[in-house]
Amino acid sequence: MKQQNQSDNFIGRKGKILLSVLSFMIVCLLIFVIFGRTPAGHLPETSPSVNPTNPVSPPTEDPYGYTEMTLLSVGDIMFHNPQIVAGLNAATQTYDFNDNFQYVKSLVSGADLAVGNFEGTIAETGFKGYPVFHLPVATLEAVKGAGFDVMLFANNHMYDNQKFGVQNTLTKFKELGFAYAGATLDTEKEPSCLVQEVKGIKIGILNYTDSLTQDIVSNYTGELMHTINGIAIQNDFFNNMNIYVQGQEDAFYARVAGDMAYLKAQKVDIVVTYIHWGWEYHLTENEYQRQTAQKLCDMGVDVIIGSHPHVIQPMDTLVSTTDPNHSTLCFYSLGNYLSNQNRVATTWSSEAPRKGYSENGLTVELTIRRYNNGETLVSKLDYTPTWVHRYYESGKLQFNILPLPIAEDQYAAYGLTKSSHGVAHAIESFQRTNDAMKDDVAAYNQNAIEVMAKLEGKA
Ligand SMILES: [Zn+2]
Repeated sequence: MKQQNQSDNFIGRKGKILLSVLSFMIVCLLIFVIFGRTPAGHLPETSPSVNPTNPVSPPTEDPYGYTEMTLLSVGDIMFHNPQIVAGLNAATQTYDFNDNFQYVKSLVSGADLAVGNFEGTIAETGFKGYPVFHLPVATLEAVKGAGFDVMLFANNHMYDNQKFGVQNTLTKFKELGFAYAGATLDTEKEPSCLVQEVKGIKIGILNYTDSLTQDIVSNYTGELMHTINGIAIQNDFFNNMNIYVQGQEDAFYARVAGDMAYLKAQKVDIVVTYIHWGWEYHLTENEYQRQTAQKLCDMGVDVIIGSHPHVIQPMDTLVSTTDPNHSTLCFYSLGNYLSNQNRVATTWSSEAPRKGYSENGLTVELTIRRYNNGETLVSKLDYTPTWVHRYYESGKLQFNILPLPIAEDQYAAYGLTKSSHGVAHAIESFQRTNDAMKDDVAAYNQNAIEVMAKLEGKA
């Protein structure tokens, strides 16, 4: 339960209404205890202490009282062919992927809002992984079971099963109770960005993907067509997906501006942009990512969280070139949350996966604080390195996402002793990710403490 430093300013007046005031305060206290929020600022109009002929002046709200919520984000959630096979129960011909998430479930479901990138499409038959992901719905059910609330869908595999795949996946998101961003079933009726209100804080979520492939001219109509993952996109469906095309940045930024205006009209407190971009298997961001991030910062985005490179890339804090008071927290890539991109899975030409970097993921948890006066910021960053433990048990492949580090006396409880490499690779994974993040995260948190002290007039 989150701390609140608001206070109610009710002062008892006359004896005859003292009792009702007291009962109201007890109700307030109960609401606070049960829901972790004070009702200050949300007082019912028919408060028992209000006499229309002798109104009580409204309580004075402390402008630096605040509410907080936690936003958890993870990188790419992928199901490659060997995972699909591993999830099949041959006897019943049904799929089950819940085991993959068993060790991260409490971490994910402990956050107020948990967001992941679903990199594939839900199919009904003919299940397969790379290069075009047609996945059984059981994959998504397992993601839901882990405690995720929001699915991001703007990625280079969103059109792997063409229009049907997009529509079917979004429909399944809905049926399973996910909120989602990155694509829409209906451009007229449903925005492709998202507003989520949690603990009184309104979060605007934007989600885009770099098309990563070039436009082509249709053999049939001679029309110019956009492509994604090498697949030509039906022109009348392009706007259902949040895709940007390199070299056509003006169109992309116009779209972002439109989405920002929509979120502003919804009075969101903070804008988080999830973006699928960058070069695969590069341990640092490229110049194009930096330029795009700076532009998004200048446009007023508060947080940028990236995916697609399949390895973790650094974090940074950008300062707006148009408003020196605005800064943007940026994680260039959270790496792989779940995949078969293991060092022994195939013969890698790239060095990073060959050395095991694509087995690593970064779970980031942002504590978002909204002051009563409306000022909102990321007040604290927490992170958990994750690693995919891939091993054989009774001749069958197993995949477990592990939160790191794991204490020595817990190795067996997390299944690390089930493979020859588990303990060593988990230790290596933790060290790599922790070394890459710890100083920057600590610096961010220290700065946030100073900013908040200044805001609250304590420094
Ligand atoms: Zn991707």
